[in-house]
Amino acid sequence: MNFTEFGFTPSIVAAIKQCGYSTPTDIQQQAMPHLMQGRDLLGLAQTGTGKTAAFVLPTLQHIAGEAGKKVKALILTPTRELSEQVHENIQLLGQGTRLKSCTLYGGVSKAGQIQKLRQGVDIVVACPGRLLDHLNSKTVDLSSVEILILDEADQMCDKGFLPDIRRILKLVPRQRQSMVFSATMPTEIRRFVEEILTDPVTIRVNHEKPTATIKHALFQVAQGQKTALLKHILQNEKMTTTLVFTRTKHKAKNLARQLQQFGFKATSLQGNLSQNQRKKAMDGFRTGAFNIMVATDIAARGIDVSGISHVVNYDVPDTVETYTHRVGRTGRAEQTGDAYTFATHEDAKMILSVERRLGKNIPRKTVGALNNKARNVSTAATPIGTDEKTRSTSAPRRKTQGKPRKQRSSSFDFGFSAS
Ligand code: AMP
Repeated sequence: MNFTEFGFTPSIVAAIKQCGYSTPTDIQQQAMPHLMQGRDLLGLAQTGTGKTAAFVLPTLQHIAGEAGKKVKALILTPTRELSEQVHENIQLLGQGTRLKSCTLYGGVSKAGQIQKLRQGVDIVVACPGRLLDHLNSKTVDLSSVEILILDEADQMCDKGFLPDIRRILKLVPRQRQSMVFSATMPTEIRRFVEEILTDPVTIRVNHEKPTATIKHALFQVAQGQKTALLKHILQNEKMTTTLVFTRTKHKAKNLARQLQQFGFKATSLQGNLSQNQRKKAMDGFRTGAFNIMVATDIAARGIDVSGISHVVNYDVPDTVETYTHRVGRTGRAEQTGDAYTFATHEDAKMILSVERRLGKNIPRKTVGALNNKARNVSTAATPIGTDEKTRSTSAPRRKTQGKPRKQRSSSFDFGFSAS
């Protein structure tokens, strides 16, 4: 199948070509014929599958002939970064049309957004909070919306946006085409989707499973050894572009700083940064000024930087869904990628859940140089999982009779100091 079969106008086909897309991805092949017919759609797809183009292209096609002063399409996203990304996709794929789009999200002044809205836009890409702000001050009018898209609906739900979205929906015409995209489908979202969509087609692509192009690996490590392990891996493996996830904003900031002190080109992306700083970090990561970004989940949600070679879970995520989202930053659009997870004993349960979702054990990876130095390994150590290789990462069990047991956290002593 190729892009000429969907009935796009020549200018849109030309833009697709210019983006370098030769074959539609799975979700594009499945979703676009229905969307071109005007059907409502529920897309169960994670990022990295090409879902943005799957909804942007038919949207452009539907409203290209009506370019003017009214908002015809509304796209809601959970984060500012995702809004920007969708907006960039629209600009690239819509370059041959006269359509104009703008983003509306918080953390930046409203004045610039109002100016763009006054000049007239056809497509609004927005985060719910700031959009409501504009609706309250009547600086945006949604009464001509024909297409409504909710991207990453599960994340919107997690962030507590559903009440805001319900308020927004009251100001959008009922007669419209609607699409909802979500990587996961918790009950709350399912109910919400039923309110929004009319007789939808449901498309599932790699639902809730990370893409097959990702190679997963697990490093067993004590909490205090993680930075040493990361430094070692960064120095010894071919990691062109690496996204590192930490649990807290504070840790993201400090770890990026430590990596800079080690001489790495690292930056951080976390919620304590101003919008301007976030943009600077993202731009720097995209252009290669930084090849390592340390981020929290909220900040990194949905980011699309092409060619991320490695994702490192410095801290194990709290849910399996988050694991899927994080590792989905690599191995995008058929490229291969590596996902490394640093796990302590406390993470054993979550690792098991992730493996259940993946349908296979995550190979345990050993770090030769570090491993050879392993000393004083506690007999309390119980390798995560049952993989033989796992056992080889910890030193042989010693007899403990009569000796006090060591703390579990020292079980994976690689013989490094923490910094
Ligand atoms: P998404 O899942 O929308 O975030 O897209 C992931 C990546 O795939 C983005 O970098 C897109 O530019 C890219 N992409 C989307 N559609 C195609 C396609 N048909 N062929 C190659 N790359 C694509």
